[in-house]
Amino acid sequence: MSKQQPLRPEIGQPVHLDDYDPDYTGDYDSKHAAKEQLEHNRDRMRELQEVLYAEDKHALLIVLQAMDAGGKDGTIRHVMRGVNPQGVRVTSFKVPTPEELDHDFLWRIHQHTPGRGEIGIFNRSHYEDVLVVRVEKLVPENVWQVRYDHINAFEQMLADSGVTILKFYLHISKAEQKERFQARLDDPTKHWKFSRGDLTVRAKWDRYMAAYENALTRCNTEWAPWHIVPANKKWYRNLVISNVIVETLEHLDMHYPEAEPDLDTVVIPD
Ligand code: AMP
Ligand code: MG
Repeated sequence: MSKQQPLRPEIGQPVHLDDYDPDYTGDYDSKHAAKEQLEHNRDRMRELQEVLYAEDKHALLIVLQAMDAGGKDGTIRHVMRGVNPQGVRVTSFKVPTPEELDHDFLWRIHQHTPGRGEIGIFNRSHYEDVLVVRVEKLVPENVWQVRYDHINAFEQMLADSGVTILKFYLHISKAEQKERFQARLDDPTKHWKFSRGDLTVRAKWDRYMAAYENALTRCNTEWAPWHIVPANKKWYRNLVISNVIVETLEHLDMHYPEAEPDLDTVVIPD
């Protein structure tokens, strides 16, 4: 496996997940080495989120996709630790309800996109509609084939409306998934996370990888880029994602809103 690998696949180029090593840890050789940077990122994220919230101008949408046990929940827990909950909203997308299925596939998604001043985190997303839906043949091919274009247009519309979009695919190996499933089986406090259905999905690993490669290729845009995060090592995954979020927020060039004039002359009555 090559020493370097891109975090952001080149736009327009086909993604081959075999080219990406899930064990990759860049220049870091241990959790300990990454700890300081992660702590620093957390502090910075807290500061930046305060301004985002106060300025009430930009929105940030973070999309997390992964196979089962890929680390979506852990990412949210670790990366967002300490951020003011008032400005962050996490939405987990499950099997659609009958009402949701009566609408277009983006209907349920749009209701949860972040408003100005907010960070929205999607634990699964509209991408399920070209992943599980495609592999499990929940709709005919002609229906899911046109969704890539729908998704790009939808995300462009959000971006044009002031939403910065970051999409992360947490890349774990099939062997790592097995270990994490086993850990869930071995620990009674983790049993709730395991379902036999997860093994049915695991059995179709290669088909899911092919579906992911398509989504990562066809929906990788300037306005909503994909990041392929090496995720076998949880600490590296957290570090990479927090790096990207901090860099992105810093680029927004945010400012606290203008205060009312002459606040230094205000006297608070007894
Ligand atoms: P979990 O993330 O373990 O709570 O599981 C949520 C389940 O909902 C996963 O099996 C997803 O594949 C499934 N799911 C999410 N979105 C959709 C969708 N649009 N169509 C079908 N299944 C979905
Ligand atoms: Mg599950």
